[in-house]
Amino acid sequence: MNAEDSRFVDDGTQMVDFLRRYTVVCPECGGAARVAAKEDEPFILFAPRRLTCAACGFTKEWAERSVSYGWSGAAVDWYFRLPFHFQKPCAGHQLWVANREHLVFLRRYVAAKHRTRHRDAHGWRNASLASRIPKWIAQSKNRTAVLAALDDLEEKMKEPNKNLQPTPR
Ligand SMILES: [Zn+2]
Repeated sequence: MNAEDSRFVDDGTQMVDFLRRYTVVCPECGGAARVAAKEDEPFILFAPRRLTCAACGFTKEWAERSVSYGWSGAAVDWYFRLPFHFQKPCAGHQLWVANREHLVFLRRYVAAKHRTRHRDAHGWRNASLASRIPKWIAQSKNRTAVLAALDDLEEKMKEPNKNLQPTPR
C-alpha cells in the first residue's frame, strides 16, 4: 500500500452525489435496473429520475418534491424505494453500494489508515457521507471483510444480470 492509499480526506462528498446514476433491483424481473437523474436540474436532490430495466424493458418515473432519506443505513434507494442491486452480507451486516463511484469511495475510506476532513466555509462538513459511515464499516477489525465484499460487488458489476432467473409470465 502506498502513501496515497493510506490517507482518506473527507472532501464533503454526500450520498446524493452518488444518486445521479445508480442501480436497483427491478420490481418486475429482479434484474439490474438503472436509475438516472435529469442532469440539467440545478438541485440534484430533487432532480426527476427515470428507472430503466434493460432486462425486461420496465420503466418508471420519479418527479416529486420530497425525499425520505432519514434512514441512511437502509439498503433502499431514496426515490423508488427499491433495494440497491449491488449488495451482500458482510461481517453480520448488509453492505451495499449505489454505483461504482460509491464503491470506489467506500474502498478508499476503508483502506485508509488515516482519515482527515477538509474544513469548509461553515465549519466541519457534518453532512458528508464519510462522517456518517456506519461504525461497523469503519472498524479496522472488519477492514479485510469489507474490502473483500467490495471486490465481489465490483465483479458483479461486470455482469449485473448473471444470476437472473427468468420470471414466469
Ligand atoms: Zn426488469
